Amino acid sequence: MIKVLLIFLATLCPTISIADSDDKIVVAHRGASGYLPEHTLAAKAMAYAMGADYIEQDVVMSKDDHLLVLHDHYLDRVSDVMTVFPERFREINGKKRWFAIDFTLAEIRQLRISEGFAVSPSKNDASGEFKANYSQRFPLFKSRFQVATLEEEIELIQGLNKSTGRNVGIYPEIKSPWFHRHEGKDISQAVLTTLKKYGYTNKSDMIFLQSFDPIELQRIRKTLMPALKMDLKLVQLIAMTDWSETMVYGTDGPKPYDYSWMFEAEGMKTIGEYADGVGPWMSMIIKPDSTRENLNISALVERAHAAELKVHPYTFRADPEALPKYVANFDDLLELFLYQLNVDGVFSDFPDKAVDFVRAKSAL
Ligand code: CA
Repeated sequence: MIKVLLIFLATLCPTISIADSDDKIVVAHRGASGYLPEHTLAAKAMAYAMGADYIEQDVVMSKDDHLLVLHDHYLDRVSDVMTVFPERFREINGKKRWFAIDFTLAEIRQLRISEGFAVSPSKNDASGEFKANYSQRFPLFKSRFQVATLEEEIELIQGLNKSTGRNVGIYPEIKSPWFHRHEGKDISQAVLTTLKKYGYTNKSDMIFLQSFDPIELQRIRKTLMPALKMDLKLVQLIAMTDWSETMVYGTDGPKPYDYSWMFEAEGMKTIGEYADGVGPWMSMIIKPDSTRENLNISALVERAHAAELKVHPYTFRADPEALPKYVANFDDLLELFLYQLNVDGVFSDFPDKAVDFVRAKSAL
């Protein structure tokens, strides 16, 4: 009732904003990845049942041009590829990597997907010791999980939308478009074509399309979407330059894209010219040197909102080793970002906890 009144008042007086809990969205980061191996259909179904508003898909391409839902453009952090195809790696900076783009979908289907792990010592092959990235999560190589295609995942979510009567959105990320294009594959064109086939065409549809690559996002906004008669909401993910998340190929080889302009006074305004939202790392908003009594808060959220951009930071994890030291617990972290700093949504590996928290706040 209060909300109805607020909406009525807001129509009379546009300066009244309705920043209540109903506006906050929970994005299931790689599915319910705190509980089941990331990006498996099981993790997506669990996230759906937990009440997530949007479910994330990271998208890479196979050798035979299938769109795969996979976080890395290599397969060796989450599968037994080192055992099944021991010789099919590329050596990158002295480390073996098994690239998804070197395998067909039929080959990738032979792999068992696992909770994520690191191999020690650093020699990255099956002779090393596998150690889980998060100690409290699903055990390594238990049960049976496979890589899904983007189409299979959209069909799962749209199928559940039909059978439950809910309207859960998708939040696909085009992974490393610079890498795919360098390998001769136009991943953005392929993703957009698939999204259109499944009815995602306009800003009013339940989708945010994200990428870390600003050059590619501008190409999507200015060239690819108009040609396909599409106009989706775009989200600029923000990285630190030294992560080498986005590379630019010049005459002297690939160099990390320089993100520093995004943190300057006009940065958000510039992003607002081609995107509808930003996905910053949470430490770009509250600096990691903060204490609960003395939070070091950046101007990012304020500048983004002034440029009419939504702010969906990543990644909200309840694992004990992942909580920032300036909060006492996970709810405290959600309270700070969603209600003190007023971000519009969160990417979380624990969608149940985030959904419960937002629902409890909106019931107040
Ligand atoms: Ca992602």
